[in-house]
Amino acid sequence: MENEYSNPFGILKNPAKIYVYGPNGCLGDPVVETKPKLEAWIDSRPNVPKDSSTWVKIMCVGYRDGKKTCFDVNEYGMVELPADNPKATNGQFTFEGHVVYKYYNRNDENGVADQWGKAEHIVGLINAIIEYRDTYPNDLLDIGDMRSPKDGKVPKNSKGGLHHGNKGAVDIRVLGKGGSFRGEFTDTRHDLERSKVFIKAMSNNGYSRLFVGRNIYEKLKDCANNKLSVHQDKPGDKTHSNHYHFDVD
Ligand SMILES: [Zn+2]
Repeated sequence: MENEYSNPFGILKNPAKIYVYGPNGCLGDPVVETKPKLEAWIDSRPNVPKDSSTWVKIMCVGYRDGKKTCFDVNEYGMVELPADNPKATNGQFTFEGHVVYKYYNRNDENGVADQWGKAEHIVGLINAIIEYRDTYPNDLLDIGDMRSPKDGKVPKNSKGGLHHGNKGAVDIRVLGKGGSFRGEFTDTRHDLERSKVFIKAMSNNGYSRLFVGRNIYEKLKDCANNKLSVHQDKPGDKTHSNHYHFDVD
């Protein structure tokens, strides 16, 4: 079985519903078995109507009509990237025993926290990862620097300075077989097809800009479409030679 959402009929890759026919075959009425699909979405805190003045925005990951994990959104509209252990520098986010993604270098420099995003951007990121894993179900993506809790820049490195001035900024390590690895786009582990599938998934989920290194730009520039533009570092700059940087311009 290719992944947990596979169905024996191969009608849809990741169906919300699977139609199972009874003993009468096509002549009988289909028995509809609902298989929930993992997703992220914005909701309101339970028992508080969305149109009330006390509406509190939350972000949820899980099944709309089933088990879910929800997170409060702060006054700046920001939520921290969900993690099993939010205090760990490197870790993962698990739902129902399955790792959804990994993250790295969380809050690793002095200064503001660095893995926050607008609730709608975190929703987009998680749904893009889920979409990517419809094609590569065993791959784990590794997420790095994002934005601060007040939707501002975050510390760049131990030398000081800040980066990620654009909304929705997020770094993700290069993709190869099995998911992200720590290395350059020129590494033989890099898988071009995986990069393309992920870029498309991000553009389908609200991300409008991608920066990559000059070492891969020529092979990825064709991923640009009417929703997403692709850019490369300036000559001599190797900032994005070892990760994808997406944001929302
Ligand atoms: Zn970046």
